[in-house]
Amino acid sequence: MSESGHSQPGMYGQGRRRRRRRDRDVGPPGQNLSGPSRDREYVPRERRDGSEEPPGPLLQKTPIILAKPPGERSKPSQSVPISGGQALEKPIMLIKSREDGGKPGTPPEGGPAPYSTCLPDPKQRHGTVNTICNTCTLLTAVIGQTKLVPPEKMKHSIKLVDDQMNWCDSAMEYLRDQTDMLVVGVIGLQGTGKSTIMSLLSANAPEEDQRVYVFRAQTQEIKERGGNQSTGIDFYITQERVIFLDTQVRLNLSPLLFLNQSLQITAFLFTVCHVVIVIQDWFTDINLYRFLQTAEMLKPSTPSASHDSTGSSGNEEGSEYYPHIVFLQNKSSRDEFCPRNLKKMHMAVDKLMAHSHLKYKGTLSMLDCNIFPGLDRDYLETEVNMFLLPLMENEGEDALTKAGSGSAPLFSLLPGYRGHPTFSSQVSKLRSQILAMSRCQLSHTILTEKNWFHYAARIWDGVKKSSALSEYSRLQA
Ligand code: ATP
Repeated sequence: MSESGHSQPGMYGQGRRRRRRRDRDVGPPGQNLSGPSRDREYVPRERRDGSEEPPGPLLQKTPIILAKPPGERSKPSQSVPISGGQALEKPIMLIKSREDGGKPGTPPEGGPAPYSTCLPDPKQRHGTVNTICNTCTLLTAVIGQTKLVPPEKMKHSIKLVDDQMNWCDSAMEYLRDQTDMLVVGVIGLQGTGKSTIMSLLSANAPEEDQRVYVFRAQTQEIKERGGNQSTGIDFYITQERVIFLDTQVRLNLSPLLFLNQSLQITAFLFTVCHVVIVIQDWFTDINLYRFLQTAEMLKPSTPSASHDSTGSSGNEEGSEYYPHIVFLQNKSSRDEFCPRNLKKMHMAVDKLMAHSHLKYKGTLSMLDCNIFPGLDRDYLETEVNMFLLPLMENEGEDALTKAGSGSAPLFSLLPGYRGHPTFSSQVSKLRSQILAMSRCQLSHTILTEKNWFHYAARIWDGVKKSSALSEYSRLQA
């Protein structure tokens, strides 16, 4: 009943209680009851200790319980549906709850403290103290278990931004409260292989049927009528906590609306991704570099640590975030793997990107993958982040056909000269290079996966409302 002492310090002062206890414990029993006045004062303490002592003395102490502070008990007693004399029932409730919730540090029973500790809103209070404590314990256990359950493994990609360019919330349920994630986005012209490559980097193997790929590739029918498979932004997260964002970008020969949408998507990726893969299936389209430059120019500023606004300007040059860019030459021919041509391609991209802030060199190298064993590290002095993927041909058949064309019968048994490693071996090399890329901070604060989602939603909102983007589109019209 220490709570009684707290609520009515005048009646049962701390020092006074200690003194009385000392007297009772040390001295013989007779000395404790030295006089009638002392008996009267002694009663509250005895009643207080009564709950911890054998039930014998309780008979004497029970009537004294009535002397406890009256005003304090009015609230809990109203919530307890007990009929009869209030004076007797209140202490019974109190003693019971104290035994049940007898944990160290538990706030005093009967007072308002337990309620406010368990449920902040008094309207949500339960009928009794016991119910509150048990419910809260259960709730804590359930919440704790929920946190431990790993998020569901994704079977297919889902929409992060739909066809109408609206943000979708469904990806949130796959995200965790951990910070070690990598975000990889992809852009590229129609049908260059974005969905195929993203599927192979995330969850699928080249041997698998394309219909089971996590990012659905263009069907023959769509290809024939020149349509687009991907619309908006598709989202997929792996168990290794790598987020893949598949997009569609239309540049030339497209209505202005598509160009505007493509710029929005690319500017968004430049802000929320660690790595952006730029896929091409031939070398090269000058419009792509112009487009990259425009998207970089229209990219939202990285929100500063003190200001949360996505469109805030005035950031210092050094604090602006730019992602790593990887140029992926898909469906590359044997000629493109020729070291001399490769060197020219690197030089051209380096020149075209010279004024860009995007991190387009120094983070990925084909020379590190043992693709060109005899090639010196210095051979590509202007090396950019470029990777070549060959055609995903039916390798066995193709090779034997070529080899069989030779005159000597012995050579017909050997595979033909390809000039590059197999498609699947190249994909696995690219995969390890991408996954090993640095996971630098996207904003001025460290983001968990869930924080990233909210951050990305905010950036998307900012991109859609960006006055710079709409002004640019207006000027292009
Ligand atoms: P969209 O712009 O419509 O979204 P996309 O860029 O995602 O298309 P995909 O659908 O992945 O392109 O691929 C288009 C076609 O190219 C598919 O039929 C796919 O199988 C094929 N393809 C992709 N990469 C290669 C490759 N390296 N070799 C051969 N075929 C490929």
